[in-house]
Order: sequence, then structure tokens, then C-alpha cells
Amino acid sequence: MTTQEMNQAFEQAYGRKAEKIFFAPGRVNLIGEHTDYNGGCVFPCALSFGAWLLIAPNADKVLRFRSLNMPQTYEIAIYAIKPQADRAWCNYALGCIDIIARRHPEAKLQSGYDLLYFGNVPAGAGLSSSAAMEVVTARAFTEEMGWTLADDKKYRTELALIGQACEHEYAGVMCGVMDQFASAQGKKDHAIYLNCDTLEFEHVPVKLEGIKVVISNTHSPHHLDSGAYNDRVRQCKTAVEQISKVKPIKFLAELTPEDWAAVQDAVTDPIAKKRARHVVGEVARTAQAVEALKQGKIELFGELMTASHVSLRDDYEVTGKELDTLAEAAWQVEGVLGSRMTGGGFGGCTVSLVRDEAIETFKAFVGKEYEEKTGLKADFYVAEIGDGVMRL
Ligand code: ADP
Ligand code: MG
Repeated sequence: MTTQEMNQAFEQAYGRKAEKIFFAPGRVNLIGEHTDYNGGCVFPCALSFGAWLLIAPNADKVLRFRSLNMPQTYEIAIYAIKPQADRAWCNYALGCIDIIARRHPEAKLQSGYDLLYFGNVPAGAGLSSSAAMEVVTARAFTEEMGWTLADDKKYRTELALIGQACEHEYAGVMCGVMDQFASAQGKKDHAIYLNCDTLEFEHVPVKLEGIKVVISNTHSPHHLDSGAYNDRVRQCKTAVEQISKVKPIKFLAELTPEDWAAVQDAVTDPIAKKRARHVVGEVARTAQAVEALKQGKIELFGELMTASHVSLRDDYEVTGKELDTLAEAAWQVEGVLGSRMTGGGFGGCTVSLVRDEAIETFKAFVGKEYEEKTGLKADFYVAEIGDGVMRL
């Protein structure tokens, strides 16, 4: 859908023209999975698809929410902003407006607004359609409510934090900051090497001559639910406690593989030991992958992606049949440099580096294997790495 068509849709919905239009991208994490809440780094990039928001103030003191992706519409008085029923999609937007006002008392909602969203990130596939929606709303409404920062880098970090707080408080998902951060700080043809604990980050050029980032969607109904997620968080904490008896640490990410070899026997819980081994390995792999990319060693980057999947499958145990089938089929295709699950796990997507000439074979072979083994149909997107949130 073009922005002209979105403008027409706005006029049709509200009987007048939109005043402003904003865009924020979805994201894909290239490597560094389940490291964020262990004090480690992640390496996501923003995609060229995401969420658009068209707005115009109204004189009615109400926020009217519509989305071209959803049948439900909402109308909420500006003096009655609070979380709506569970699963109401407007929570991802409303929460941002509430949180802007709470984090920045000088920010004021001066009037009501008519809002129209459109997203082209497949929702619920682990490519962060929710973060795109939050960050686009945070960008629009910080400006409308009169709170922005001249320092663009700091401003974007704050937009990510507003989005994350919305996800916690209005969607009930206790996520790390990676998704919103990538959506806010994305840069065309760059990935973001981010420490989720300190929020220090670096834009690293992703120069892939003759190679594409291909995202494969499992369309699996399985998700990393909060139970399985919280189990992993708890198991990592157990490992930290047991290791701290011989070497005091706050996070598993503080350990190098050499440290791990020296302290691993202190972890007596066998499950916690596997989880910790993944985290320590993944933190080292992510650093090595970033270095490989900087030196143009794309083959090595691909091998590290594959090693990441193996570790997530065998030690962290968050892959499952669908993701394993996609990744393992991809590894068999000549011209695939690496392939791994991306996002929390169980369902969602894999991310692969594929040579241009192998893309059609990749889609045909992986698609066929996947359908035969799971009965489901996969979807494939050749990703472009795009910019972070913007006003158009
Ligand atoms: P993901 O972020 O992985 O895509 P989530 O379950 O976190 O999946 O977020 C998906 C939810 O976000 C949808 O169910 C919907 O409530 C909301 N959402 C995302 N994009 C849009 C959109 N364009 N319009 C309305 N709601 C959206
Ligand atoms: Mg989400």
C-alpha cells in the first residue's frame, strides 16, 4: 500500500485529511539470542517494512483508533486513558501516549486525535509488529505533546524506552528493550550491536555483496509463552547464584568461554548448566560475528549464525520442530552461508544468509521440506535493512 492510498483511507475513515504521517520499522535479530536479559549484546537490524501512523487532531477530546489491519475501532476520552481489555490492539498505542505524559510531565495532550495505522510486518511472527506500532506512536505523540530532544540519538533511545514501558504495562509482556531499540535506532544497511543492560550501541555496516538476508516464517501457532520464558530467566539466575559461590558475577554475560571452563562445575543443576552454556557461548559468538562482519568475513558470520541455532536447539531448548525443520533444510542448500531461529523461539521466523543465485532453490527446497515434515506452509521474505522511525 502506498502512502497516497493510506491518505485516501484516512479521508474515507474520518472525512478529512491526515495532518502528519510517521513510519517505524519491524526488526530481525541477526545473532545474540536470549542474551539480552543476561547482560549481553544483541545484533538486530531494522527492516524496510513496519507500521505507518496517520494522525490529525480533532476538537472532540477523544482518541479515535483505526487500523487497516484490524476490524476493531476504539474511541477513548483523553481524560480516561488507561489499559483497555486484554488483547485490544489499541493498548500498544494508548500505552505510549500515557507513558509519554508520565515520563515527561511537561508533555501535554492538548486535544483529541484521529489515528489510522497500517502495518506490513506479519503480526505475531516475531518480527516485532508490536514494537513498530509502539515506536511510531511514541515518535508521533512526543512531537504532538511538545516533548522532544535535540540530541537525536538520545531522543530515539527514549522513544524505545517509552515503547518498552508500554509493552510491559499495557500489553503485559515483560520484554527486553531490543525490539523497540532497533525500531527507533535503525539505520539503512547497518545492524545495531547493542548492550541491552547499558544501552550502549554501535551501528555496524552490513555490506552483503551478492548475498541477501532471507526471513522464513514458520506460521506456526507455537510461541515462546511467558511460562517458558520465565523458566529460562529463572534457570539463568540459578546458574548465576551457583557460579557466584566461586566467582561473584551479576550476569552470565560477564563470563568468557575460558571463565566458563573454570567455573562450570559449580553449576550443579543440569538444566541451569545447559542454559548458562548457551548464554556464555552466544555472547562470545555475537562478539565474534560482529568482528567478522567488520572484516568482511561473511562466511564466518554465517557459520556463527548456524552455531547459534544449534546452541538454542540443544542447550537453550527454545527451537521446536518447525524452526528446526526450516534451519536444518536451509543448511543443506548450496549457497546458504548460515541459518538460525530469530526472536524468542518455538514459532516465529528463521533468518538466513543466502547467495543471490541460490534464493529460488532455497525457497523451493526449504518450502517443500517444511511442508512435508510439518504440514504447514512457510513464507519467505527477502529483507532490506532500513532506517529507524521517521516522520514522512
Ligand atoms: P509481534 O510483535 O511479534 O509481531 P506481538 O504479539 O507482540 O507480535 O504483537 C502483535 C499484536 O500487535 C497484534 O495482535 C495487534 O494487537 C498489535 N498490532 C501490530 N501491528 C498492528 C497494526 N498494524 N494495527 C493494529 N494492531 C497491530
Ligand atoms: Mg511483539
